[in-house]
Amino acid sequence: MSQRIIPLHDERSSSSELALPQEAFKASGRLSDLRHRPLHDLRISVTDRCNFRCQYCMPKEVFDNQYKYLPHADLLSFEEIARLSQLFVNHGVKKLRLTGGEPLLRKNIEVLIAQLAAIKTPNDSPLDLTLTTNGSLLKQKAQTLKDAGLQRITVSLDAMSDDVFKVMNDVDYPVADVLAGIQRAQEVGLGRDAMGHFSGLKINMVVKKGTNDQEILPMIRHFYGKGMSLRFIEFMDVGSTNGWQMKDVLPSHELMERVAKEFDVQALDSQSKGETAKRYGFKNQSGQIDPALGEIGLISSVTQAFCADCNRARLSTEGKLFLCLFASTGYDLKSLLRNHASDEDITSAIGHIWSARDDRYSETRSEVHGKPDAGQPIQVLKRVEMSYIGG
Ligand code: SAM
Ligand code: SF4
Ligand code: SF4
Repeated sequence: MSQRIIPLHDERSSSSELALPQEAFKASGRLSDLRHRPLHDLRISVTDRCNFRCQYCMPKEVFDNQYKYLPHADLLSFEEIARLSQLFVNHGVKKLRLTGGEPLLRKNIEVLIAQLAAIKTPNDSPLDLTLTTNGSLLKQKAQTLKDAGLQRITVSLDAMSDDVFKVMNDVDYPVADVLAGIQRAQEVGLGRDAMGHFSGLKINMVVKKGTNDQEILPMIRHFYGKGMSLRFIEFMDVGSTNGWQMKDVLPSHELMERVAKEFDVQALDSQSKGETAKRYGFKNQSGQIDPALGEIGLISSVTQAFCADCNRARLSTEGKLFLCLFASTGYDLKSLLRNHASDEDITSAIGHIWSARDDRYSETRSEVHGKPDAGQPIQVLKRVEMSYIGG
């Protein structure tokens, strides 16, 4: 039986002191950190609540009726999120991803999307605006999201079998409802590029060995030919409540061996630096890669660290800036906002914080957990939860 651990104390309350910098740091659009990694993506958690209880993210034992979610007054308002996003874009951010918790639970999320879609970029370059969802509210909201200016969407789905999916989401939620949401998203054009091709719709499957790895091939069979990108994510030791153990991780190379037995795939060139997934296309009968067949992506966060190109910052539900998914402290931008700091001051703060960034947790994971063998005891680490920091 897998071990469960609970946090020793609430890491949400801990944040790095954020004094206003003396020296102005202007936005040049080319901000980079100590390891020469640019600031390219901003992931914004718009709520710490969720209607699922995925064991790997919000286990029921911890996120129960007694769990204290953030009060509404502590959440960043839409105006605050939009203002910060504009300042991040001035620093060079080219992609905004709304996440959570379950972002579609945030009331009037389409109002925020419209505000973000209106952000001005340097040289009018395109801003990629996307959202990750568990799909439960997608069927009813897809059109509104599209109309508000959302361009693309990522839907999480961990199995094709209802029995297995219900074990994963732990709230008895059926696969068919998520599939209906995906279909609706496709119909309204969430995931179609400027040429009208399906290129943006992504499906995320977290693979937990011994729990849902038998669903890998059924998932590929289902999505094959639908022009979507199905991505397999190694179960990660994020947060401190999911009882992570190395033996529950199916390394991507093993996953690929299973795939290659049934499908003729070929590695694709990466589209951009900092891309998290190693992508593979399917070959058609003439042996050519055919994008209409879709693609698969492997996100090997545990077995092949990609910190060297990590260009993602995370803005927590209550406005703290985190420089790594595995960080234990964030920088309190909300206090700057609510203490009436000017745009110049906040821009300076962001510039100083990112330029001093040195995080690379996944590259040093084995120093924390010991060698990746199955019997390693779990350590209680002081980290924030993924539902709060945003996946
Ligand atoms: N609720 C939304 C959803 O599930 O898509 C958005 C938030 S969720 C935290 C974002 C992504 O993180 C999801 O694709 C989820 O599967 C993934 N995730 C959560 N916990 C994880 C873990 N321990 N290891 C790997 N991926 C995880
Ligand atoms: Fe909710 Fe997403 Fe976490 Fe599952 S992964 S519990 S759907 S926030
Ligand atoms: Fe980025 Fe941290 Fe993940 Fe490395 S461990 S890829 S630095 S978020």
